[in-house]
Amino acid sequence: MLNFPKVTEKIAASDKTLFSFELLPPLKGQNIENIQKTIDPLMEFDPAFVNVTYHQEEFVYRNLPNGLIERRTIRKRPGTVGIAAAIMFRYGANVVPHIICGGFTREETENALIDLHFLGVKNLLAIRGDAQAGMKYFQPEKGGHAHAVDLVKQITNLNRGKYLEEDLLNATPTDFCIGVAGYPEKHIEAPNMDSDLYHLRKKIEAGASYVITQMFFDNAKYFSFVERCRAAGIEVPIIPGLKPLASLNQLSTLPQTFNIDLPEALMKEVRKCTDNQQVRKLGVEWAIAQSKELKAAGVPAIHYYTMGRSDNIAAIAREVF
Ligand code: FAD
Repeated sequence: MLNFPKVTEKIAASDKTLFSFELLPPLKGQNIENIQKTIDPLMEFDPAFVNVTYHQEEFVYRNLPNGLIERRTIRKRPGTVGIAAAIMFRYGANVVPHIICGGFTREETENALIDLHFLGVKNLLAIRGDAQAGMKYFQPEKGGHAHAVDLVKQITNLNRGKYLEEDLLNATPTDFCIGVAGYPEKHIEAPNMDSDLYHLRKKIEAGASYVITQMFFDNAKYFSFVERCRAAGIEVPIIPGLKPLASLNQLSTLPQTFNIDLPEALMKEVRKCTDNQQVRKLGVEWAIAQSKELKAAGVPAIHYYTMGRSDNIAAIAREVF
């Protein structure tokens, strides 16, 4: 069986900044080749780990002939277990599946964790998940977790051989290394940064051993976040997440979706662009400058959000790693 190191072991064993990236699973109906197109150009940069996101099922509404409306669940992006296995075995890559609270009961979560353990997956990112499409607020599944900290506790229990079935004797403990999400510009629902850091610390105390940040376009936000985390007693590695700006449309969608600011210095340059191609080129240049500064500051890894395309990430990696 393939034997992968934990993300924290990779970081501890390296004296340089590591390269990693995040993939979206293919949409339902697409084939694995769709994500191979994203992965292939990035493998030459020797990613320390490759994250695979998970997304809740979505609903569609259909008008019935009798005038009633039927709500049907669709699985827009099939689960990560199969994708994780496909990537591991095709590329020998250290895959980090995202495990989310949304849409899962505790039992379903446990089953997914058992599958991943059997596959030899060592690393997970434990997150709550976004509110379902069309819903304003996050709704946990009945019998599921309301916050990522509870999911971290469940995984930590499994790492101690404590399954949901309490009378299970001599159960094999899993050995997952758990990552969690952090927000240099604050999570949108948090009343203030201190409160957000309080809950981040709770996730670490529950057993998480590293943080990957939400994307940011101003490194000062990351450096100040790390400083505040350290002051709040959060000592684990904090991996910066970067996404190169790629279209004019993202000037409004990124701040709205991820609760982040685009710095004025970047906006000044964007205003000179007349089409998406120019924005994409600028996005690469901006991310290269961000990456070089982060690397010079000795960050443990830089994690790139591909959002389904990787030509721009490859262009950045070529300059930085
Ligand atoms: P939590 O840690 O639960 O925090 C959510 C909010 O609740 C915060 O405001 C926090 O301060 C507060 N809070 C936390 N615990 C408590 C508590 N016990 N009581 C009261 N308040 C509390 N989404 C997906 O759907 N799929 C993905 O694959 C995915 N991958 C991501 C990867 C990264 C690196 C990041 C940064 C985000 C990702 N997201 C993903 C988005 C994420 O699911 C959302 O940002 C979600 O709204 C919050 O997730 P969380 O794990 O930070 O939640």
